[in-house]
Amino acid sequence: MKFSEIGLSEETLSALNDLGFEKPTQIQEEAIPQLLETERDLVGLAQTGTGKTASFGLPMIEKVDFNKSHVQALVIAPTRELCVQISKDIQDFAKYHKNAKVATIYGGASIDKQAREIKRGAQIVSATPGRLIDMIKRRLVNLKDVEIVVLDEADEMLNMGFKEDIDSILDGTPEDKSVWLFSATMPKDVAKIAKTYMENPIEITV
Ligand code: AMP
Repeated sequence: MKFSEIGLSEETLSALNDLGFEKPTQIQEEAIPQLLETERDLVGLAQTGTGKTASFGLPMIEKVDFNKSHVQALVIAPTRELCVQISKDIQDFAKYHKNAKVATIYGGASIDKQAREIKRGAQIVSATPGRLIDMIKRRLVNLKDVEIVVLDEADEMLNMGFKEDIDSILDGTPEDKSVWLFSATMPKDVAKIAKTYMENPIEITV
């Protein structure tokens, strides 16, 4: 299968061409068409290296309205390194989408700078849980119109003790959002998150 056959826009296809992505990986081939066509939740059992970032990043940029300037999609990841990498990948995918803005939010760096990224009208946020909670509490970010939440490396986030933060973040987002959860493993506590926040999800294992 080719990227041009799975429903992506010309802008996105050009960016993939620049990146040298020739054809979708298995998880991309399975996830992207379904995420584009439906509003369903998704559980992806996938390790790093499978192309999971594009499997959620590409449908995300097709669904976000870059003519608007409020946060519409949120990715939560366990570490600063992963959060920065996701942000960079999404910016690469969205480079030909006019007005696309991605804010990167993580601890140990200037909160003012990150708040300015939000204020400039970021439609997509890639965040680690602790700093995001901090910014929500200080009203520097507003998640009331979020339509898509991605939980990346959910098992790692729970191992690192972020369960309460994740609950608190998700409780502040609209009921009718889509949740796309990715995890390398499916221990009980991850299954519980899926059960609490998702309804009849698409399930993909690679
Ligand atoms: P990820 O699992 O999202 O961390 O991706 C692993 C690596 O594969 C990254 O360096 C991506 O840039 C690369 N990658 C993802 N999808 C593709 C693809 N369809 N073709 C070529 N490289 C890809």
